[in-house]
Amino acid sequence: MAMSFRVALTTLGCKVNQADSDLLAAAFESAGCRLVEPDQPADAYVVNTCTVTLVADRKARKLVRQVAARNESAVVAVTGCYAEGLGRAVLEAMPEVDVVRGTHDRASLPEAVLLELRKRVALGLLRPLDGAPATLEQRVRAMLKIQDGCRQYCAYCIVPSVRGPLTSRRHDDVLAEARDRVRGGVRELVLAGIRLGAFGVDWPDRRGSRFAPLERLVSELGQIENLARVRISSVLPLDCGANLFATMAATPAVCTHLHLPLQAGDDTTLRRMGRGYTTRRFRALVDAARAHLGDLALATDVMVGFPGETRRQFEHTLAFCEAVGFADMHVFSYSPRPGTRAAEWPDDVPPAEKAARSGALCDLRDDLRRRYYERRLGRTDEVLVESHDEATDEVEGLTREYVRVRARVSLAARPALGSLVPMRLVAVEADGMTGELAVGQVVAND
Ligand code: SF4
Repeated sequence: MAMSFRVALTTLGCKVNQADSDLLAAAFESAGCRLVEPDQPADAYVVNTCTVTLVADRKARKLVRQVAARNESAVVAVTGCYAEGLGRAVLEAMPEVDVVRGTHDRASLPEAVLLELRKRVALGLLRPLDGAPATLEQRVRAMLKIQDGCRQYCAYCIVPSVRGPLTSRRHDDVLAEARDRVRGGVRELVLAGIRLGAFGVDWPDRRGSRFAPLERLVSELGQIENLARVRISSVLPLDCGANLFATMAATPAVCTHLHLPLQAGDDTTLRRMGRGYTTRRFRALVDAARAHLGDLALATDVMVGFPGETRRQFEHTLAFCEAVGFADMHVFSYSPRPGTRAAEWPDDVPPAEKAARSGALCDLRDDLRRRYYERRLGRTDEVLVESHDEATDEVEGLTREYVRVRARVSLAARPALGSLVPMRLVAVEADGMTGELAVGQVVAND
């Protein structure tokens, strides 16, 4: 019998990284390993890193040290954007790290980890698990990576250097993986890509409009039997338009949730960032999305303290975010990444001012999020059940709008993981809503 090991995977950063981790997890599972939570004892710890900011780099190194301290005989492997870029040499020099693979050679990571593990078994440092791997908890929601890479070269972003040019997977391969996932019990697929909206633009035989490949994929995914939901995660404003929103609206499985990364609500800042759109174009997209999809949950990313961003320009961003009324915002402070254009410019917004701008945007985010939740109070929404908590009798899951709902349900009435249940939304919490099982009630449609 093949040796079986416990492998813990931790993922930092974006949904593309999460999708990459899912592929690593599948590779370890098919090699007979058992996946365990990162805080549990493991024979190998794999950290999939991000390098979007200096803070992300620091977090990656800290996490590597933390997991290495859990079991000194364990193999520690690091992958992801930090391991591809400037961080590779840093990681290779860390005594805690045994295997480093970037984004391009990530596929060889499981084999390298298994080789290290077998060496340790031969040296008597590790004992493999007996018997077959334990059954894993059913995965209800999974990432489906369809695209990688970017050539937009926003002034602050290192991703084009570490992820390379736009590369899209083949349409049929994506559909085949989606069907496989559904056969394995997945009910919701979250599409992931660095430039999701640019899916297919690099195909040599591509015909038709710029956005057609993603639209075709979305509508075909929507026809897969037993796939309850398709969620489109983040789409660059440059890469989407009314046709995509119309396809989303015409495909019942597609969630009423979209992440459009804004970064700045000021045209001068957007131009200097090299984002390729204006606030006017962004606003037109939002209006088109709402025209097709109603009160969809619209989320975004906003950066504060970009070099040269004046107080007035920041206030434009604040006012723009309020006017759009995002349901959620990811706020982060600029830090220079060596190798980007902006790193050559003075990082001239003082740290205290960056913190103040970030604080103001976070306050607005909390307020907008609460308002979004309040609009949903009293509705009956469909929740995909993802987990049960035995201790509190709570079930938890997400609505189509990405609202996390928790509800107390007695053991006798407890819905199965992966089921879609109607829940009446009865109270607002900081990070979601409280629900009540509403069996027999009709789910509201926007
Ligand atoms: S679009 Fe801009 S921010 Fe996004 S990955 Fe490409 S370069 Fe980076």
